[in-house]
Amino acid sequence: PDRIITAQSKTEDAQEKALRPKLLDEYVGQMKARGQLEIFIEAAKKRGEALDHVLLFGPPGLGKTTLAHIISRELGVNLRQTSGPVLERAGDLAALLTNLEPHDVLFIDEIHRLSPVVEEILYPALEDFQLDIMIGEGPAARSVKLDLPPFTLIGATTRAGMLTNPLRDRFGIVARLEFYTAEELTRIVTRSASLMKVEMDAEGAFEVARRSRGTPRIANRLLRRVRDFAEVRHDGIVTQAIADAALQMLDVDHAGLDVMDRKVLRAILDKFAGGPVGLDNVAAAIGESSDTIEEVIEPYLIQQGYLQRTPRGRMATLSAYQHFGLTPPKTD
Ligand code: ADP
Repeated sequence: PDRIITAQSKTEDAQEKALRPKLLDEYVGQMKARGQLEIFIEAAKKRGEALDHVLLFGPPGLGKTTLAHIISRELGVNLRQTSGPVLERAGDLAALLTNLEPHDVLFIDEIHRLSPVVEEILYPALEDFQLDIMIGEGPAARSVKLDLPPFTLIGATTRAGMLTNPLRDRFGIVARLEFYTAEELTRIVTRSASLMKVEMDAEGAFEVARRSRGTPRIANRLLRRVRDFAEVRHDGIVTQAIADAALQMLDVDHAGLDVMDRKVLRAILDKFAGGPVGLDNVAAAIGESSDTIEEVIEPYLIQQGYLQRTPRGRMATLSAYQHFGLTPPKTD
């Protein structure tokens, strides 16, 4: 389903490239990840070495790709970008690796979806900057070893748990990106609005921010929709009232939950008596894939305290009942 609030990239997000911060200083929030990276980048530059391999993980839209670009810019090197599912054969990765210049960044998005054959040749490349590949077929086949320039792999994943252990072990720097606070998102929305030349007051920016599921990509997308709304229905400044009216029209409720969020919660409340219920059953009940629920929808619901993950399955919390004005069952 086309979900306005989806955290996954859409074509319109091409416009978002213009909104991408370019330097670490412009990158809002994520103090922990930023703090670490600042030190490691500085140290690598001082020593004149490639930065250690970096693994970035967290839900979609939180700024992993943006951060990878910033890291390469701060290091003053090139970034080559690819993604796990795109690298089908060992040769695809070999071609990329052999084209790197010393200290370059290779960014692999969705790194948990690398095929095992590709992953296999990645290990020696990461560890010893060596490429070990087979050339030719049949009796004429032979293995060739090539030296690679020292480089930095930046891997991004929404699911750190899906990485194989040997791959995870090869990252010296592991940074987990967190959902943004409303205050941080307000800064992002305010900055984006000014780049987009949208007139917006502080309350308008805050309203968009707090209803963006803690996610900059969603904040920027909602801002564009709010702008459309304001241009057609009003003129002038986006206020809290205008932002609210636009967001209501987009079916983003006052708590910032969208249709899919509410569907998941309602299914658990109405069809499974509040749970615990297995993820697959929730998925079947609403006709959505378990992966999407697990990677995109539920992390925010859990973070906001509407949903709990228990050993016996997902459970709606008291807040979930309250959100829909329902009375929770008595527990005694
Ligand atoms: P991911 O790779 O995690 O899916 P992106 O890096 O593509 O997310 O981020 C989505 C958009 O959100 C970016 O284009 C950028 O405009 C914005 N964004 C992400 N993180 C930040 C941040 N820390 N500060 C400002 N804008 C951000």
